Amino acid sequence: SLPKVAMIGLGMMGLPMATCLLKAGFPVVGADLSASARAAFAAAGGAAFEQARDAVAGADVVITMLPDGRIVRDALLGDGGIAAVLPAGTLVLDMSSSAPIGTVRLGAELAALELRFVDAPVSGGVRRAVDGTLAIMAGGSAADVEAARPVLAAMGRSVFATGPLGSGHAMKALNNYVSAAGLLASCEALAIAEAFGIAPETVVDVLNASTGRNNSTETKLKPFVLSGTFGSGFALALMAKDLRTAADLAAEVGIEEGLIECSARKWEQARAGLRPGADHTEISSFVGTRHKA
Ligand code: NAD
Repeated sequence: SLPKVAMIGLGMMGLPMATCLLKAGFPVVGADLSASARAAFAAAGGAAFEQARDAVAGADVVITMLPDGRIVRDALLGDGGIAAVLPAGTLVLDMSSSAPIGTVRLGAELAALELRFVDAPVSGGVRRAVDGTLAIMAGGSAADVEAARPVLAAMGRSVFATGPLGSGHAMKALNNYVSAAGLLASCEALAIAEAFGIAPETVVDVLNASTGRNNSTETKLKPFVLSGTFGSGFALALMAKDLRTAADLAAEVGIEEGLIECSARKWEQARAGLRPGADHTEISSFVGTRHKA
């Protein structure tokens, strides 16, 4: 029979990921501090608790899908943390976009409790989480990553073994750096072209038929920026966190003064300047792009 899974965090991503696991036949119990998140999982046919401790009883695999690594650490090892109640051998998967250095440290502490730990962050956004077609980058021992693979395969189209513990989180931060830089560059180009009198739809069409084409020009500019809906489901604050993680990683390995630090600062300025719940596509308003709001 399939392993029992506990999903800690039923937000924009955790909810559709847990729902994919249910559809694949895994027994899934969820946990989220938010009552509306719990209600949404119940509506999808799952059971959810407010306290993670209540959700992990009997679980073979515990997944965290929380905002950042500090919150993941707290859920596992903080006051009332779940690590203390997990039986030896339980497989813990942190699928959040956490910082890799904290992940390595957390892994050592969990290993001391005889828990297995894999970092398995995801890319593809809410749409691909719903479809179960995420890209998943898994760091950890080969045996632990292979043990996690059947669960991960129910949520993703491609599951990469990226190397040792923390390498998934490192790869995720670097992916989001490239993605965020592409979005920022596209929004700047849009603002400049508009100021020059070029219609915004024309800008996007030309980029998409040319070498400036990227994931943002293809999937974000028209649906979320030009429409003025800003409904991607990925918060700007989370993207700013990912850019900081990537810039810190660059500094850690001694590769500094690149575009990465400049991008991280720009996203942090936007986070501080925009309202708290802003969507990451609202970076466009920060670089001056007009839209049809
Ligand atoms: P979210 O804010 O929508 O969801 C986080 C959920 O965690 C919330 O429902 C919150 O109530 C819950 N929560 C917070 N602390 C908790 C705790 N201690 N115990 C239980 N529940 C708790 O965030 P999200 O967009 O789902 O992102 C989750 C992670 O995935 C982040 O690290 C993010 O960077 C990453 N990510 C997001 C996207 C995206 O498109 N939204 C894509 C890829 C990766």
